[in-house]
Amino acid sequence: MAIATINPATGETLKTFEPLNDTEIAAKLDLAGKTFEQYRKTSFSERSQWLQKAADILEQEKANFAQIMTLEMGKPLKAAVSEVEKCALVCRYYAEHAAGFLADVSVNTDASHSFVCYQPLGVILAVMPWNFPFWQVFRFAAPALMAGNVGLLKHASNVPQCALAIEDIIRRAGFPQGGFQTLLIGAAKVANLMTDDRVKAATLTGSEPAGASLAAAAGKQIKKTVLELGGSDPFIVLASADLEAAVVTATTARMLNNGQSCIAAKRFIVEEAIADQFEKLLLDKFLALKVGDPMQPDTDLGPLATPDILQDLDQQVQSAVTSGGKVLTGGHPLKERSGNFYPATIITDIPPESAIAQEEFFGPVALLFRVADIDAAIKLANATPFGLGASAWTTNNQERDRLVEEIEAGAVFINGMVKSDPRLPFGGIKRSGYGRELSIQGIHEFVNVKTVWVK
Ligand code: NDP
Repeated sequence: MAIATINPATGETLKTFEPLNDTEIAAKLDLAGKTFEQYRKTSFSERSQWLQKAADILEQEKANFAQIMTLEMGKPLKAAVSEVEKCALVCRYYAEHAAGFLADVSVNTDASHSFVCYQPLGVILAVMPWNFPFWQVFRFAAPALMAGNVGLLKHASNVPQCALAIEDIIRRAGFPQGGFQTLLIGAAKVANLMTDDRVKAATLTGSEPAGASLAAAAGKQIKKTVLELGGSDPFIVLASADLEAAVVTATTARMLNNGQSCIAAKRFIVEEAIADQFEKLLLDKFLALKVGDPMQPDTDLGPLATPDILQDLDQQVQSAVTSGGKVLTGGHPLKERSGNFYPATIITDIPPESAIAQEEFFGPVALLFRVADIDAAIKLANATPFGLGASAWTTNNQERDRLVEEIEAGAVFINGMVKSDPRLPFGGIKRSGYGRELSIQGIHEFVNVKTVWVK
């Protein structure tokens, strides 16, 4: 894929970028390696001041950064502004808490003094996607930099201006020149980076093939990876639920980021007794969404990020129909507009055992399933290869406890939407990936947990 800014709302190519050549990549690796030797000696208080400054810059210039995001990948502008604010939040969170998370931990043993300490690993490669082009990067960068690591960012090829803006923010905040660098390179160059001795570990957020490819390259070199891949999150609504609240959240959770979020609710699993009501209310909400230019403040649903995403989604919808699914609304790309627009779509009656019911739909398409009871709901919720998040709605405490216990996912939210929060760990099981980001668990992923034993 060319490295370029292509406006997804119009299809217009606005700017193209020359990928780095091998000499330029080597120079950046060299700078990263040399910077680490000095940077690892900086104090938590210095790093914390720089990260607070990065948060200040994000807050002061949020309108500008939001525009770049919307221009490159099409999320509604108001969502882009919120994303920048959340980046500031994660910077402040780690600026405040990292020293505590990484403080030595004394352990009583047969030594006169034994303890655990946490040391940085070195250069960490982050391969990031376009869907939350600022947030995904800052949720990696904030803990990694606070831990004393340095970062290299290979961002998705359709968000180069976001990638350069983030590098600039971190440099302007005061971090050393090689502390965080953007590599404008294609995906084919990533595996080779893992063979470089200075690159100690990697994290990737994106598709399963990309994750598997990076993990294989890292595995050959015995280097650690954290993977945050796809999800087909269930949204379970049981008969005891507050139906109106569930439907409002269902709509927000499915349409977040024009439907392109790993933790978007994708499969709506509803108890038969309330299924007709839920279906009608959801349809009303979907029909009320305003589709349009993502730069306009009142737009709810903008374009998909690329023509490929649009085409893949439409193929999945047509396969769902071939498998027996019934389209209640939407179901085809919006031909009357240029750009990658797909309408809010609801599909019912898909046989749960069909292959298409197991897939991740990365766009504004809701799959609606009816189930007899909580047993059937949990069974269906777990019947995909993914295990990222799950949202479940009930007012019955016994049902709540079963949902928490039995759903196979990295996170279960009861009576709320699955969302990431700097204070809570984030990540998946099964084919959704492994490792955790955010919270104390996130900062512990890329450190040497060193045991010290002194007699
Ligand atoms: P990709 O996984 O292809 O892209 C994500 C990042 O990985 C990009 O930086 C990409 O670079 C890079 N990449 C791609 N292939 C490789 C590889 N073999 N080795 C190393 N890095 C690689 O996602 P797409 O944009 O193609 O989206 C396809 C699907 O992936 C979506 O429909 C969705 O299902 C899933 N996805 C999930 C996301 C999540 O949040 N979990 C985010 C984005 C996508 P480049 O852009 O240069 O190809």
